[in-house]
Amino acid sequence: MGVTLIALSLLGLRDGRAQATSRPRHALSAAILQRAARIHWTPALVDELIDRMPKVETHVHLDGSLRPRTIQRLAVRQRLEPFADETLGRIRAETVVDKPLGSLARVLRIFGAIEPLLRDPESLEDAAYRVIARADRQKIRYLELRFAPALNTSSHFSDEQALRSVLRGVERGRRDFGVDTGVIICLMRPFKLVSRRRNEKMLDLAIRYRGRGVVGIDLAGDEAAQPLSDYRDFYRRARLAGLHTTVHAGEVPGSPDLRTAVNIGVDRIGHGVFLSQDPALTRRAKARGIFIEVNPTSNVRTGAVRSLAAHPAKRWHREGVPITISTDDPGLFGIDLNHEYRALAHDMGFKPLDLLAVSYQGIDALFATEAEKRRLRTRFEAEILATLDALARTSGRDAASRASVTSSVK
Ligand SMILES: [Zn+2]
Repeated sequence: MGVTLIALSLLGLRDGRAQATSRPRHALSAAILQRAARIHWTPALVDELIDRMPKVETHVHLDGSLRPRTIQRLAVRQRLEPFADETLGRIRAETVVDKPLGSLARVLRIFGAIEPLLRDPESLEDAAYRVIARADRQKIRYLELRFAPALNTSSHFSDEQALRSVLRGVERGRRDFGVDTGVIICLMRPFKLVSRRRNEKMLDLAIRYRGRGVVGIDLAGDEAAQPLSDYRDFYRRARLAGLHTTVHAGEVPGSPDLRTAVNIGVDRIGHGVFLSQDPALTRRAKARGIFIEVNPTSNVRTGAVRSLAAHPAKRWHREGVPITISTDDPGLFGIDLNHEYRALAHDMGFKPLDLLAVSYQGIDALFATEAEKRRLRTRFEAEILATLDALARTSGRDAASRASVTSSVK
């Protein structure tokens, strides 16, 4: 295989044409394809691409974003046991899931310990602000942050105050870092944990704040404990009110929720891992343009997939099922979005152009307005081209130094 063909193959191209690896509603421009094809890609250069390229993130839980240091600070300020008296190392050991735990339920239990830290205005605003600050460092230009206000209230602190605190945090983040955001309200299951009535109140709140920071709803919590079909009315109401919809589905085997989600016609599905076992349903999801919010590391650590290599994301991408990449719970898993893009590149078979395509088509997945999406596309185009120019210079210097080494050896 010649050098050109190797380069094209590394890029996910064949015969000089873009393979039909994805059918995003908005594809990468010819200028981007041409410039990427001129680069001699090495693993180090792919890492540099990931660090520099603009991104969006759609699936991030506020409570799953707390880092050990933040947990310690919030706990000390509120004098909350057990974390207030613990060392950072101990907190890390208790709250960071850095290897597979084997079940989603075991991972969800850790949230029970973290949740009490986020029940006052300062803590919620602080936590939301820190998510945006970290997003900026990873070149995330638009982030959708989700949380369930009902889990963050107390007798003297309402759902609405919780929401307003989070909105203040992301707004301060937007002003300081220029990262745009949308907040997704998580309805919760089972009703045993958050009652039908409380869920209705959260939906009322989401509807009231539509266009004022809230962009959509989700359904979170243990998928095995209560089916999505019990929340059908909530989704109908949300859509009628103009909210976007996503749902945690297909994160555990044998759940009926994927079929329900496709039937309901949600905009996106969180995880969707077990969709891979039903090709007909996958085709229906694709035909409806339903995006899958892929969270590779989360899926390995909750035991939804055996390994990154066994994850269906690459196959979905090749087959044109629209995907977007997120961390799910960056604090809980001790990761960030660049870590997830590296997983795609080094463990899941995504070539540089695949990474750019996934990042760029992520704009289509957003619960943002069309005007916001147009602005993001313009910004991404300019930033991707500038990134590729910078990488081409690095790659050119590397090639020149290789050539000079070769000639000096002769
Ligand atoms: Zn999630």
